[in-house]
Amino acid sequence: MKVYFLGTGTSQGIPVIGSSHPVCHSVDPKDKRLRVSVWISWEDTSLVIDCGPDFRQQMLHSGCSRVDAIFFTHEHADHTAGLDDIRPFNFRQGPIPLYAHVRVLENLKKRYDYIFETENKYPGAPSVDVHEVTDAPFIFGKKQIVPINAHHGTLQVFGYRIDDFAYLTDVKTIAPEELAKLSGLRVLVINALRIEPHDTHFNLQEALDFIRAINPGKTYLTHISHVFGFHEAVQQTLPKNVFLAYDNLEINI
Ligand SMILES: [Zn+2]
Repeated sequence: MKVYFLGTGTSQGIPVIGSSHPVCHSVDPKDKRLRVSVWISWEDTSLVIDCGPDFRQQMLHSGCSRVDAIFFTHEHADHTAGLDDIRPFNFRQGPIPLYAHVRVLENLKKRYDYIFETENKYPGAPSVDVHEVTDAPFIFGKKQIVPINAHHGTLQVFGYRIDDFAYLTDVKTIAPEELAKLSGLRVLVINALRIEPHDTHFNLQEALDFIRAINPGKTYLTHISHVFGFHEAVQQTLPKNVFLAYDNLEINI
């Protein structure tokens, strides 16, 4: 299985528009972060988790030419605002399956009503097949997908486990019973916004406490704010086997 980090930034991305912060002016490519998303592929299966406002740019840059599904974590714009740009995939493949919590699907129907139109739909509009994700594991691409429940402030979010890999973002709290679903991981991806605490995201210490509880082989931190610091400087402070992810990083699991 190949995991390609399409974006590792928090909601505004890095650089932030108009910012004078030194990280926003860094010349290190690892300090340029598009909105958070990951492309996962194995054998003849290719999926992305989330589809934010940088989706088009991410698909062009990564060379991704087929998307068999989009799994959504939650409905916030930094995870969903690229949905209109699935059209090139529609023209080649047909409707794209969307997997999400029913609440997220209802939200997308409200925000992208023209995509879900059943009468007199504009012929060039995106087309999707919706699949409701519940707590129950499901099969996709011949693999078992295990949804992981967590909370982003008061908002429920889903993470996804596929074999010995799990991807969770926008987590602030997670119930103890969900941790058992994350045992024996080789690779974990988890959000860590910055050093300072935040109301709806893990900060670094909360992410490190979570990593200690899960004990994966390796961990990559994502959904990173510019105020976290320069990539190289932050990386040097991290424990062994914990890494800051960066855009276009590709790992094989
Ligand atoms: Zn987010």
